[in-house]
Amino acid sequence: MTLKELSDHVVAEFKKHYGREPRWIVAAPGRVNVIGEHTDYNDGFVLPMAIERYAIMAADLALFQSTNTVSIYDTQFKETATIDVGEHVTKGSPKWSNYMRGVFAGFQRRGEKIPALDVAFMSTVPLGGGLSSSAALEVCTGTLIEAATGKRIDPIEKALIAQTAEHEFAGVPCGIMDQFISSLGREGHLLLLDCRTRKTELVPMNDPAVALLIVNTNVKHELGSGEYAKRRAECEEAAKILGVASLRDVTPEQLEKAKSKMSDLVYRRARHVIGEIERTVHAAEGIRQSNWPTVGQFMYASHASLRDDYDVSCKELDAVVEIAEDIGFKGGVYGCRMTGGGFGGCCVALVKADAIEAITKTMLEEYNVKTGLEAIIFSSRPAAGATIIKG
Ligand code: ADP
Ligand code: MG
Repeated sequence: MTLKELSDHVVAEFKKHYGREPRWIVAAPGRVNVIGEHTDYNDGFVLPMAIERYAIMAADLALFQSTNTVSIYDTQFKETATIDVGEHVTKGSPKWSNYMRGVFAGFQRRGEKIPALDVAFMSTVPLGGGLSSSAALEVCTGTLIEAATGKRIDPIEKALIAQTAEHEFAGVPCGIMDQFISSLGREGHLLLLDCRTRKTELVPMNDPAVALLIVNTNVKHELGSGEYAKRRAECEEAAKILGVASLRDVTPEQLEKAKSKMSDLVYRRARHVIGEIERTVHAAEGIRQSNWPTVGQFMYASHASLRDDYDVSCKELDAVVEIAEDIGFKGGVYGCRMTGGGFGGCCVALVKADAIEAITKTMLEEYNVKTGLEAIIFSSRPAAGATIIKG
C-alpha cells in the first residue's frame, strides 16, 4: 500500500469507529540498516534507510476532554487501549500500548499536557521482523502529539524521547538508530549516523535504476538476546586490552599489532567491528557517487564478516546471500547481507530496479529449495521520515 492508500484506509477506519472525520493524520516509517551492523554500541557508524512501510494514526480530540483519556483503536487487531493522560502515564496493558505510553510520558516530562484523544492506528511494518515496527510506533506517537498540541519539536529530541520509551516502557536497551531514522529520514536519502557524536548526514540515493530488496527469512532463532549481551562484553574486553574507550578508536593496523594480547575469539569480534565501521563510511561514499558495484561489494564483505568473525548469522540468512551471489551481477544483484542483530530476521540486497521481479521469483523459489521455508520479499526506495499528513 502506498502512503496515500494507507492514509485513506486509516481515515475510513477512524470514521467507522468514531463516527466522524479525523482532524490529524500522522505517519512514521520502519527502517532497514543498509550497512553498519553491531557498530552502534561501539561508537561507530550506521547507515539506515526509512522504508515505505509505516505506522499511521488518524486522530481527533476526544469529545469530552474532561475524561483525560486517549483511546487508541488498533485497526488490525481490533483492540482498543485506553490511557489516562490526566496524570503521569505509566506502564499498562495491552502490551503494545507501552510503546505509546512511553512517548506520552516522555512528552509529559518535558512539561507537555497531552489532550484527550480518539485515535485509530495501523502499521504496515512487519511486527518483530527486525524492521523496527516498535520505533515506527513510538515516533508516530510523538508526531501525533506534535500535531495535537501544535508544537513541533526538534526531530532529534523526538527520537530521543522515543528511544527512552523503548528502554523504560518496553524494556529493550536499544541504540539510537531506529528512532533517529524514523524521525529524521528524508525521501531519496539514507542517513549516515555517527553513534558517538549523534551527528547525522543525509546521503542522497536517487538513482531510479537501483532499489533495495528486503528479504524476510521468517525465522528468529532464540539465542538472539543472550548472544547480543556476549558480543557487547567481548567488544568491551577488546577495547580494554587495546586501552581505548571503544573500538571506534582503533585502526585495523593497531588491532593487528595487538593480536597476540587477546584470544582469537576477541580478536575476530574486534576485527568485525573495526572493519565494519570502515566499510560503512566507504559505502556511504559509494552511494553518494552512485557506484553500485562497489557498494554491493561492501555489503557482501559485511555479511562475510558477520558470519565468520562475529558469528551472528544463521543458515537461513546465509542461504539468502548465497542465492544473491548465484544470481549475481548479471542477474541484477549488486550485493546482499544480513541486516539487524542476526540469528534470523531480514537480509537486504541492492538490486537493479528493472530486475526486481525476476530476482524476487528466483529468491523465493531457491530459498524454499534450500530451507523448506517461505520468505517474504518486498522492495523499497528510501522513504521519508515522520510526517504530519493532515493537521
Ligand atoms: P521490531 O521493532 O523489529 O518490529 P520489536 O520486538 O522491537 O520488533 O517490536 C515489535 C512489537 O511492537 C510487537 O510485539 C508489538 O508489541 C509492538 N507493535 C508494533 N507495531 C504494532 C502494531 N501495529 N500493532 C500492535 N503492536 C505493535
Ligand atoms: Mg524494535
